[in-house]
Amino acid sequence: MLTLQDIRKSYGAIEVIKGINLDVADGEFIVFVGPSGCGKSTLLRMIAGLEPITSGDLVLDGYAMTTASPFERGVAMVFQSYALYPHMTVAQNLSYGLRVAGTKREEIALRVREVARSLQIDHLLGRLPKDLSGGQRQRVAIGRAIVRKPRIFLFDEPLSNLDAALRAQTRIEIARLQQQLKSTAIYVTHDQTEAMTLADRIVVLNKGHIEQIGTPLELYRTPQNMFVAGFIGSPKMNFLNVRAHGSEAGVHIREMGKAITLPFVGRGEADLTLGIRPEDLVLTPDGSGPFAFRLDIEEHMGEFRLLYLTADDGSQVIAKTTTQDSFAEGDILHFTFDPAAAHLFDADGRRLSRLNDKIAA
Ligand code: ADP
Ligand code: MG
Repeated sequence: MLTLQDIRKSYGAIEVIKGINLDVADGEFIVFVGPSGCGKSTLLRMIAGLEPITSGDLVLDGYAMTTASPFERGVAMVFQSYALYPHMTVAQNLSYGLRVAGTKREEIALRVREVARSLQIDHLLGRLPKDLSGGQRQRVAIGRAIVRKPRIFLFDEPLSNLDAALRAQTRIEIARLQQQLKSTAIYVTHDQTEAMTLADRIVVLNKGHIEQIGTPLELYRTPQNMFVAGFIGSPKMNFLNVRAHGSEAGVHIREMGKAITLPFVGRGEADLTLGIRPEDLVLTPDGSGPFAFRLDIEEHMGEFRLLYLTADDGSQVIAKTTTQDSFAEGDILHFTFDPAAAHLFDADGRRLSRLNDKIAA
C-alpha cells in the first residue's frame, strides 16, 4: 500500500534520514519509535508531503507520489501541538477540510456528527479551542483527521502534551478507533509504551536509520542489537559484561564459580554482553544464584517492587520482584535467571543467534 524506497533527507551537508526502506500494508498500524532527534518527525513529514524528499521513492497504492502534494496523497496528520484554527468553533474545525474539498453540505454535517459522537465531543461543537481542555483539543485534532476519511493517518507524538492519566486513556481510545476504522496509520512517538501497546509493527529508528522492524513481541523477545534491547521494555534490559567461550553445546560463562551454558551460537573466547530483563532476574533467598548484587534502593509499585542494585564491577542492575521479603539498603541479594530468557550481544552490540534459531533455519 505504502512503500518507502531508500528515502533520504539532507539539510545542507547534514544527512538526517539515511536510507529508509519500508512496506506498510493496508490497514496496518505502524509506530516509529526512537530517541528525540533521530528523525521521526522529518520522516513523517516527508510521507505527508510537508517536507521535500532529498532522494528515494515514495509509492502509494502503486503510484509514485514522491513529489505529490499532501492533498494528492490523501493523508491526514495529527500534530503534538493540535494546530486547531483558534478563531473557528469545534464544528468549523472539524468541517474545514471537507469544505475546502467541496464536499456537499449534508454530507459534511453527517460526517461531523458521526465523528463528534465517536470521539464524545458532540457537546463541544459550538466552542472555540481556547475554551477546551488539552484532552478535548487533542480529540478535535484527531476528529479533524478522521472526518476526511484519509487513506493514511499520520500522528506526530499526539499525546505528548497530555498528563499521564489522560495520555493512557487517549492511547486506548486511539487503539479502539483504529479497530473500528481499520485504516492505515503511522504513529510517531519517543515512548516505548505507546509503541508496544498501539503498533501492529514497530519501526525502531536511531540517528536517521532503521535499527529493527517487527511486531512488539518480536522486538521484546529477539532484539537484534543492544540499541533495540535497551529501548524496548521498561524498566530497560540489564547489560552485564561476561567472559565467554563457545562450544557445540552453547556459550559458556562462569559467575561466582558457577558454570552457566546459554543456548547461543558462539566459537572461541570472547568478551560479550549478557542481557537480562528486570522481570527475568529471579531472587534466590538461599544465596544459590550465580549473581550477587548490592541493593541501593527499592521502589514499591503495589503489585511488584523494583530493586535498584549495583554489581561488583559497578554496573547498575534493576530487578522486578513480587517477593514479600523485606530488605535493607546495602544487602547483598542473589539472583538466578532462565538461560532461555537471556540475550547475548557481541562486542559490536549485535545479537548472537540462538541455537534453536539455527536449527529452525
Ligand atoms: P525527532 O522527531 O525524532 O525528534 P526530527 O525529525 O525533528 O527528530 O529531527 C531530526 C534531525 O534533523 C535533528 O538532528 C534535527 O536537528 C534536524 N532537523 C530537523 N529539521 C531541520 C531543519 N529544518 N533544518 C536543519 N536541521 C533540521
Ligand atoms: Mg519529532
